[in-house]
Amino acid sequence: PIARHAHPPVTPGIDWSDETALAALARALATQPAPQHAMPMLASGTPEPGPVLFIANPASPSQAVGTMQTASPADIAAACQTATSFAPLWSALPTAERASVLECAADLIAAQRDALLPLLCREAGKTLPAALGEIREAADFCRYYAREARRQWPERMPSALGPVAAISPWNFPLAIFVGQIAAALVVGNPVLAKPAEETPLTAALAVRLLWQAGVPHAALQLLPGGPEVGEALTRHPAIRGVLFTGSLPAAQAIHRTLAAGDARRPLIAETGGMNAMLVDSSALPEQVVQDVLDSAFDSAGQRCSALRVLCLPAATAERITHLLRAAMRELQVGDPCRLDTDVGPLISADALSRVSAALRGFIEQGQPVHQAPLQVEQGHFMAPALVEISHLARLPGEIFGPVLAVLRYRHEELPGLLAELNARQYGLTLAVASRCPSFVEQVAAAVRVGNVYVNRNQIGAVVGHQPFGGERLSGTGPKAGGPWLLWRLLRNADPCGEP
Ligand code: GLU
Repeated sequence: PIARHAHPPVTPGIDWSDETALAALARALATQPAPQHAMPMLASGTPEPGPVLFIANPASPSQAVGTMQTASPADIAAACQTATSFAPLWSALPTAERASVLECAADLIAAQRDALLPLLCREAGKTLPAALGEIREAADFCRYYAREARRQWPERMPSALGPVAAISPWNFPLAIFVGQIAAALVVGNPVLAKPAEETPLTAALAVRLLWQAGVPHAALQLLPGGPEVGEALTRHPAIRGVLFTGSLPAAQAIHRTLAAGDARRPLIAETGGMNAMLVDSSALPEQVVQDVLDSAFDSAGQRCSALRVLCLPAATAERITHLLRAAMRELQVGDPCRLDTDVGPLISADALSRVSAALRGFIEQGQPVHQAPLQVEQGHFMAPALVEISHLARLPGEIFGPVLAVLRYRHEELPGLLAELNARQYGLTLAVASRCPSFVEQVAAAVRVGNVYVNRNQIGAVVGHQPFGGERLSGTGPKAGGPWLLWRLLRNADPCGEP
């Protein structure tokens, strides 16, 4: 159904050969923003003082980027009450009114690039290209959902769900945060947004921009805090649906909570993946190497779409691994505010110790590990690592960091390998690298995932063009940035086969 509609809008990027533009970006990145503060942003007024936590820069943990005041149970109750009373008014507006507010938000987000960039780099450890990508994606989500709402419901909208909780992750503190909110808002649901506790400052700035664009305060309230805030929200009877992106155990816990209450409340969850790239001997080694570097190590591997297991044919495995190890040694790991950095930090000390423990596990099992020495002295950095595994069963589960497993296979082992990938029960992304159409077809048909990429990297799905999401343990669907998501955010709606 997507191909039949005109191309969705994409926010323009920058011209990397334009030195003046690059110099301006470098200045924006180097600007140390004044310490920021995130607090509950309630329509009913200022919250009572509550516990305040420091938000550290993952590249320089002794440096506080700002502070966060956690939402209290009273704040959550007040926000839910306001959202419930405002819900009928918000959903009764004509579609075009809500859509144009989101279009205005998209313009503001794009215009505030220089304020967002330093925050994304310092709070979330984003490199410049990743931070720019997030800003574009956040604006694209607003424009795309606005356009879809106008197209599908030019005048009247079916009933909205009511207040919706949007619980978002630290790895896309702007794009996923804004994307969830935009989808829920445009069809008429008030939103209670709970950002990741690591990245509330970006979230607070985004809410200020959305409010400035004309989103009523009662339609969007911010409740910063840890898992306890998300838990209180999902338990609250006022919440009529939950949008969640994050870990599998957290999604399962929300699912149980919703099922124990009023089971009609939908959960739209996106979790992790055990994402593979299947290469055959016809693939161009140099292209495979570049696609693997992007897929496995962009954002220090902290994308749910990231490549986790590279499956190489015995015939070319030696050559590709050799090239890959050499290319990995060239990656610059370090301060994400520098233009020449390729790989930034892991988000926290905990994340670093979890990923390091997984790597130690491989070493203890006797699996060969290749990792260049790290040049940085402080910060939660890890050099990208390549682990040669003898069997898929050696993989403990999703390792959310720059660790790539490489598995060699012989041609006759392919069907068994594809079956084993399916048996891991995840189903998010898959890449196929081959110049042989029958191989591409065989692999793409056999592995059950949400997003398949052929002869390219497997990250950075583009809103509207490549709706993103998985199946089975990777998510419930419908995909983000696709036309079906809006239907899931409506009550008793039936798209009759085609949105
Ligand atoms: N949409 C992102 C991509 O295509 C991944 C989102 C995530 O990591 O949650 O890379």
